[in-house]
Amino acid sequence: MAEILVLAEHDGETVKKVTVELVTLARRFGEPAVVWTGPGAQAAQARLAEYGAAKVYVADGPEYDEYIAAPKAELLAELAKQASPAAVFVPSTAEGREVGARLAVKTGWGILTDVVGLADDLTAEQVIFGGAINVAARVRTGTPIIAVRPNAITPEAAAGPAVIEPVAITVSEGAKQAKVTGRVVQQRGARPELTEASIVVSGGRGVGSADNMALIEQLADSLGAAVGASRAVTDAGWYPHQFQVGQTGKTVSPQLYVAVGISGAIQHRAGMQTSKTIMVVNKDPEAPIFELADFGVVGDLFKVVPQLVEEIGKRTS
Ligand SMILES: Cc1cc2nc3c(=O)[nH]c(=O)nc-3n(C[C@H](O)[C@H](O)[C@H](O)COP(=O)(O)OP(=O)(O)OC[C@H]3O[C@@H](n4cnc5c(N)ncnc54)[C@H](O)[C@@H]3O)c2cc1C
Repeated sequence: MAEILVLAEHDGETVKKVTVELVTLARRFGEPAVVWTGPGAQAAQARLAEYGAAKVYVADGPEYDEYIAAPKAELLAELAKQASPAAVFVPSTAEGREVGARLAVKTGWGILTDVVGLADDLTAEQVIFGGAINVAARVRTGTPIIAVRPNAITPEAAAGPAVIEPVAITVSEGAKQAKVTGRVVQQRGARPELTEASIVVSGGRGVGSADNMALIEQLADSLGAAVGASRAVTDAGWYPHQFQVGQTGKTVSPQLYVAVGISGAIQHRAGMQTSKTIMVVNKDPEAPIFELADFGVVGDLFKVVPQLVEEIGKRTS
């Protein structure tokens, strides 16, 4: 069976959830062969095996951490030449898309980004134009490079050997043009990472102030959820920009998205409309966000949210 190369996203210690999502998806099309750059592969091996990785190519040279995207693309291009994979899967994250695009240029193969589903013939369901249009698209030239959105696939365990295979390439000087000069680890607290969370609770302008975002945090914490925000909230300085959901913020696709005091502008929808279940709290029954809602409460969030938190508390205590 042909290999499916899967570019791993990780933080040097932990495998990002999107990686096991891609491995789960890859099993349908061939032998998942994870491509791991930098340190941490040994620690991650068990988790990759749990989701059915057949092989883990490990390139642990420092250049993958020191330079942006290009060395990873060179590595993938080299492995693709050696392994003749049936497809290459990368996460549809900022870095994954850049690596994928560079690989496409190097190989002349076609790439599809923002993919949320894949048919057996590798026809991709793709979300484009800020989420306004879903299209079915298929790569016609070379081996398909598919960038899959985090949370689009439900990870399913299936044991695999995850045999580690060290690889080393000489990274060209051309791939060392942009150097990482510093890294700042963001304080995440106890909440899950926004793009990986199974539940996201987002607050909009209806929340009214920075202080009132505490209400959104309470609801999120009662559900073990990540906190998100609309751009109205982040632009007003009520919550940090890194939590913005939407076209110019993060794209999330959780099992449950709770939109509180958010009207549902197209730019916000672009970042959340592929969520599996959408719940809305808004006092305006005409708010466009209700068009997307699986469950909606027309009401004042300052009354609804505390009651919701109390009820969840009763059920979980
Ligand atoms: C190029 C561009 C990019 C953009 N990118 C993004 C993006 O990435 N993400 C994003 O979110 N936006 C983005 N925007 C902005 C977007 O167009 C909207 O302005 C923004 O999403 C509105 O945020 P909101 O829904 O919180 O506020 P509003 O549209 O003002 O909606 C507030 C809602 O709260 C409700 N409400 C008020 N009080 C209460 C209450 N007490 N209880 C219950 N409900 C209440 C109101 O009924 C209303 O529906 C972008 C815009 C542009 C032009």
